[in-house]
Amino acid sequence: MKLKDLGEFKFIDKIARGIRTSAKTVKGIGDDAAVLRYKRDRYLLFTTDMLVEGVHFHKSSRGYLIGTKAVSVNISDIAAMGGVPRFALISLGAPGSLDLGFVDDLYRGMRRVCRRFKIDLAGGDTVYSDKIVINIALLGEVEGRNLLLRSGAKENDSLFVTGFIGGSLKGRHLNFTPRLEEARFLARNFHIHSMIDISDGLLADLCHLLKESRKGAIIHESDIPISRSAGGFDSAVKDGEDFELIFSIAKTEERRLFERWPFSTRLSKIGEVCKRGRGLWLIRKDSKRERLKAAGYSHF
Ligand code: ADP
Ligand code: MG
Repeated sequence: MKLKDLGEFKFIDKIARGIRTSAKTVKGIGDDAAVLRYKRDRYLLFTTDMLVEGVHFHKSSRGYLIGTKAVSVNISDIAAMGGVPRFALISLGAPGSLDLGFVDDLYRGMRRVCRRFKIDLAGGDTVYSDKIVINIALLGEVEGRNLLLRSGAKENDSLFVTGFIGGSLKGRHLNFTPRLEEARFLARNFHIHSMIDISDGLLADLCHLLKESRKGAIIHESDIPISRSAGGFDSAVKDGEDFELIFSIAKTEERRLFERWPFSTRLSKIGEVCKRGRGLWLIRKDSKRERLKAAGYSHF
């Protein structure tokens, strides 16, 4: 059997089944970042994400933007846990023929994002590779009361998404601002029940959240904010690389949330959480109902 026969998500499930962690790992595989015991009132958050030439970017892309993205995708995962990023390690694989100007640009991009979000670049590793590979490991922290997991969605919760969905690969994906301020605002001021960031696509990541929460949901086509650069609704919800947040909150908090939302970032209610057995349903603009299967970006 080959990796591609299993697919990315089943592969990760298979790895997870074979791993036992100590009690110090509060949450291992299965969320946007690992949650580790740290102090009485706070946890460490630990995440890593890799960008590969030919998969996430082309050699002709600007090093500066690739550096920006490499850090930002990791910040997005820490944000989705309700926490703040602190320390980064950068590992670089590159061919000897790589222009030094590209590497300088790459690090300029990484330094800029780290400065903006007060992250220390604490080290890394350098190896030979035919293709350019950039891997960042990011350590963050979160107060116990602000920790947000994928697994906390409750029946009748309202489902929200930040920003606009789809078409990101046409440009935005290399130069986006991770929703750290928005996520911290939500974690500190509201009882958010569950949260995830969108990397694989709105539908796929909503399914990840519902699976971890053991819930179903109903979403409304007319309420999902589609980006102008997207190729239409059906592709937008599968596109991925949006790096927006999906979260769920009790319906009773909905009004206060809209009233107090201080950001220019769009905030949209897209649906409701329901019992797991009911699955995931889409209400089309013409009111027809469609049962959805998870679909989004899988690496294999
Ligand atoms: P995200 O899109 O939020 O970065 P991923 O889809 O990459 O999340 O990963 C989902 C979960 O699986 C995470 O908890 C991650 O740590 C874990 N994971 C992914 N790949 C591996 C791997 N090769 N080995 C162990 N855990 C993995
Ligand atoms: Mg994520």
